[in-house]
Amino acid sequence: MAIENGLVAGMPFQAARWIGGEITPQIVILHDTASGLTPDSAARYLRDNDRGVSVHFVIEHDGSVVQQVPVNRRANHAGRSSYHGRENCNDFSIGIEIVNPGRMMPYNDAKAQTWYGEVFAISMRGIQEVATPEHGHGLWMPYTGAQIDTVIDLLQALFNGVQTLRDITTHWYVSPGRKTDPNPLFPLEQVRSIIFGREDPRDVEANASVVAGRDDHVRITTPGDSLNLRRWPSFNPNVIAAIPHDTIVPVLRRGEFAGHEWLCVRYGGHEGWIVSRHAVPVFRKEHSR
Ligand SMILES: [Zn+2]
Repeated sequence: MAIENGLVAGMPFQAARWIGGEITPQIVILHDTASGLTPDSAARYLRDNDRGVSVHFVIEHDGSVVQQVPVNRRANHAGRSSYHGRENCNDFSIGIEIVNPGRMMPYNDAKAQTWYGEVFAISMRGIQEVATPEHGHGLWMPYTGAQIDTVIDLLQALFNGVQTLRDITTHWYVSPGRKTDPNPLFPLEQVRSIIFGREDPRDVEANASVVAGRDDHVRITTPGDSLNLRRWPSFNPNVIAAIPHDTIVPVLRRGEFAGHEWLCVRYGGHEGWIVSRHAVPVFRKEHSR
């Protein structure tokens, strides 16, 4: 699945009514629809409603997927939200809605009822009673294997095709106390480890210390023509740009990973990591010249 002009090649695209301005996506936010399972019911609502709601992708109960907003345009899926101190996640995220009924309550010993009144047999649907600090208590329907497969394929396409993406998160994480989707049965850790392997951005976040000064700059001093800028601080295939020798770049964060000191820097519209041994500090006078 390649991405061209914000659209996933080969995927059905049905334009949403609410498509916002251009964005640079940095995170993917996973949701569920808290709706009935009838094909196209949630997708139709998300495509055309009077409440200004929209989302980039909708994954049906059978695993089929439709795109409704180009990935480089804003959709209105997260509402009031914040990710690592940055507010209004719609401005920098791609939203994926997965069809699922959301929290259910006991109807009788054998059945569970959704918030909109639909009743499901617990044993038929594999419904489980789970409580977590983030979700509270409820009965929840597992996502189908086909849905999880589609989530993984789609995330792989997005992380290959959108160089600025850094993390996968959930609506409950960016809107704590207000949202509980996706539900606690979503295999978030497994999905993250498939997409990121051992370079989980959360580990990077935990190991990277924040840079003190605003004026922290370095000059690239590589023995070759250029130094690789990498999406994560590792030497695996993750190069997003090449910084020419002698370029001065601002440092955003520093950290030690696998025995090397790395710097997170900004270059040419990208944020990424370089090994610090090919960078020397520069002083204010030099770079503000
Ligand atoms: Zn949501």
